[in-house]
Amino acid sequence: MANARQSEYVINKTVNKALVIGAGIAGIAISERLAHRGWQVELFERNAAPAEAASGNPSGVLLPLLTRDDAPAARLSRACYQHALRRLAELPGVRWSPCGVLQIARDATHEALQRLTLEELNLPAELVSFLDKKAAEIRTGHAVAHGGWWFPGGGWVDPVSLCKALLAAGKTHIQTHYGVAVTRIEQTPTGWEIFDNTDHLLSSAPHVILANAQAADALLPYPVPLTLTPIRGQITYLPALTESYSSLETVLCRAGYFIPPTSGLACVGASFDRNDSNLQTRLSDHLGNLQRLDDLLPGAAQNIDASTLTGRAGVRAATRDHLPLIGTLPAPLTPRQAGQLGLSSLPRQPGLHALLGLGARGMVWAPLAAELLACQITQAPLPLDKRLIQLVDPARFYLHDLRRK
Ligand SMILES: Cc1cc2nc3c(=O)[nH]c(=O)nc-3n(C[C@H](O)[C@H](O)[C@H](O)COP(=O)(O)OP(=O)(O)OC[C@H]3O[C@@H](n4cnc5c(N)ncnc54)[C@H](O)[C@@H]3O)c2cc1C
Repeated sequence: MANARQSEYVINKTVNKALVIGAGIAGIAISERLAHRGWQVELFERNAAPAEAASGNPSGVLLPLLTRDDAPAARLSRACYQHALRRLAELPGVRWSPCGVLQIARDATHEALQRLTLEELNLPAELVSFLDKKAAEIRTGHAVAHGGWWFPGGGWVDPVSLCKALLAAGKTHIQTHYGVAVTRIEQTPTGWEIFDNTDHLLSSAPHVILANAQAADALLPYPVPLTLTPIRGQITYLPALTESYSSLETVLCRAGYFIPPTSGLACVGASFDRNDSNLQTRLSDHLGNLQRLDDLLPGAAQNIDASTLTGRAGVRAATRDHLPLIGTLPAPLTPRQAGQLGLSSLPRQPGLHALLGLGARGMVWAPLAAELLACQITQAPLPLDKRLIQLVDPARFYLHDLRRK
């Protein structure tokens, strides 16, 4: 609880130790970034192995967001995307492919907007160019409904291999604890203590990082809502396509996405069900994914018997603005204080940080998000400008909601 203890609290800067809760891509990426700086990290995961929840899909798309006005969220997404590609290229042991991504327009109006956006933004062709329908068909070798944006450096990554590669890079600086659920965290005069469900003290450190997706709210020792929404998603594996579409080597996106065969298995996704955390796969979602496949590659879903398909369901933890929560959590405030303070002057909860809300783009956000948080924790120069950092400030919804009270 942030009370009298908070004012007595001073972080011992000589003890470079952090506790990270959650071993998905968020928790593992921040563990690695701190380990890289010589910190000791203890990583706690309730599952028996890393990357078994949302980060456990066999492949995920690497694609930035573009908007005609080049809004701050689009610039942030681009910075994260480019950082992620650089990071993947330098990390040994990651299964990924910069095979290119074609983002096919939804309809003729969207196609015109895509074309105009690139004319106005003047982005380099190494990042993105516009392909009309014919050029898109030559590029993919298949009929497509419209032209679209072509991201030559985009592609797919195997999230589990990325998590394992990051853990390996962290070497002995990361001590992992699998099969251990953290059920309570408590502030002390020197930092934070974390406990399991028998109230056994698991560990203590000056810093705790919540990287446990939608389960983070339940661990907060004071009422600062993180406002994370669970969004269930199901992907479908397409072994039947491997022959007829074996020549297709690029990722395709539209309302859904198609990832070409990786280890013999193509993948199409994904359903999007708000406030649903059920992890059973559903036939109705396989049918929905076949519809997405047909939108991407007309005719490709014909003759596929949905009842024979397998897949995987997971839950995305999303924020209201679909941007992550990265940084030190705010201290509790009154509505009056909230009216007088801005994000940069807000009192924070020393040593309590978040890397949450990666939503549907965790593979793109995570590498730069982790670098940013590591810089914030170690008080190093920040890799993004203030405007973009405020976009992902974990206090933004709390401050906004308090001001409206
Ligand atoms: C169907 C689907 C398709 C997707 N496709 C893409 C894509 O194409 N491209 C892309 O970039 N992203 C994609 N994503 C999003 C991406 O997978 C997520 O953003 C990312 O995996 C989230 O990582 P995370 O570490 O925040 O959460 P998770 O991977 O869910 O990790 C959180 C971890 O915290 C652990 N935990 C929770 N509570 C506790 C506790 N109390 N104690 C200990 N451990 C705890 C959980 O067990 C879990 O392992 C997709 C997601 C889904 C579901």
